[in-house]
Order: sequence, then C-alpha cells, then structure tokens
Amino acid sequence: MSRLLEVEGLAAQYGRVAALHDVSLAVAPGQLVALVGSNGAGKTTLLRAISGVRPASAGRIAFDGSDITGLTPARRVRLGIVQVPEGRQVFAPLSVEDNLILGGYTRRAGIEEGIARAFRMFPVLAEKRRLPAGALSGGQQQMLALARALMAAPRLLLLDEPSMGLAPLLTAEIFAAIAALKRAGTTILLVEQNATQALRVADYAYVMETGRIVLEGPGAELARNEKVKAAYLGM
Ligand code: ATP
Repeated sequence: MSRLLEVEGLAAQYGRVAALHDVSLAVAPGQLVALVGSNGAGKTTLLRAISGVRPASAGRIAFDGSDITGLTPARRVRLGIVQVPEGRQVFAPLSVEDNLILGGYTRRAGIEEGIARAFRMFPVLAEKRRLPAGALSGGQQQMLALARALMAAPRLLLLDEPSMGLAPLLTAEIFAAIAALKRAGTTILLVEQNATQALRVADYAYVMETGRIVLEGPGAELARNEKVKAAYLGM
C-alpha cells in the first residue's frame, strides 16, 4: 500500500506529562482514516503533532515519502496538510466570504472557483456569504470551518471532532459532507467521539487509549469488535 502519511513511534509531551507514546499509523491516498477514543486519549495531540502545532518529542512523520517531523506548521500547510481544529475556530467578525478567502491564502489562483465549490457543498453558506461568521449557528460555523480548510486545496485533511456539540441533524449533514469529500478523492484523518458515525464512514480506524494505539482495523471490522462496542459504541 502506498502511503501519503506515515507516523512512526511518535511521542509528544505537555511539559513532563507524556500525551503520546510510540504512536504509529498510516493513511493511504484517498483513504478516510478515523481515530476514536475517549476524552483525553491523545487524539487532538496526535493531529496537532501531524500539523506541526505541537512538536513531537520522539518518532518520525513522513508525508508523501519525505520526512516532515521538523517542519513548521506553515510549511506543512504549503505541502497540503490542513487541519480543521476542534471548536470551529472561524474568524467571527469577518464575513463568511472573507473567511473563505483567507482559507485560500496559499493559493495563487482558483479562489473564485474554490468559493463556488464551497457554496455548492454548503448552500446555506452562500445565502449568508455577507454575514459575519460569528452570526452563524454552531453547525453552520462547522461547515464554514470545513469549507475554509478546503480552500487551501488540502492533500490531507485533518478533522478534529467536526460533530462536537452539534444536534443530530447537523451531525448527519457534516458526516454527509465528509463522505462526499471522500468520494471526491480527498484524503482524510478524522478524530471523532462519535465512534458509531466515524467507523461507518472510515475505510480504516485506530482506537486510542491514554496516548497509545490499542486497536486498529477496517472501520466495519472495528464496529463489530466486542471491546469497541462496549467501550465506544454504547452497546
Ligand atoms: P478530547 O477529545 O478531550 O480532545 P483527546 O483524545 O483529543 O481528548 P488530548 O486533548 O490530545 O486528548 O489530550 C491528551 C492528554 O494530554 C490528556 O491527558 C490531556 O489532559 C493532556 N493535555 C492536552 N492538552 C494539554 C495542555 N495544553 N497542557 C497540558 N496537558 C494537556
């Protein structure tokens, strides 16, 4: 299997507290890989180590065959690694459209096209294009955060808890958008507390506990695993 992202033996710390231990995972081009686990398992830290926001204290991260472990977050964005952080951090005072334009800052061309694509994906954003992002509902802000990340033409999209705090209907809409992105060929690493939905859309998944990967397998296979069912699927 060719790999777009390869993480090997990764560790990360907050001061003296270890948040990741010996984490290894891989994402192939076009794959949707999910990372599930309870609160505090280290999922966010792992995404941040991949995007470069949190330095790794050991291990190696390779992207498209090159070692990127020491690169700044900005360099990684230019390579196409784009993270949508937890809690939909949109620029609240700026309009929906300006948020999208900022998302495309690494592009030389294709801004108009990118905006048109975002509006096709989320028509409600087109209706509200001139409103400040802060005036949108939580679900709409999540759509905007996702659409803004797509403006950077990601080769690897890192999604941190896109359904957090959303009502079931909006969660379904966000997951439908994620499935559509996957069908369009986007490579995605998805962190989710909503393990049921995540395993449903994922080609492959990893389960994290206290900073380690404890289980991995195809999404459908993990969804049938008794331990996963008991711990994460509420069955
Ligand atoms: P959640 O779903 O709650 O975001 P998570 O699986 O993403 O959980 P992380 O946020 O990566 O987990 O946290 C992993 C560990 O690192 C936890 O023990 C957490 O308390 C600790 N941690 C996270 N952020 C910090 C920080 N800024 N300073 C100190 N410790 C932190």
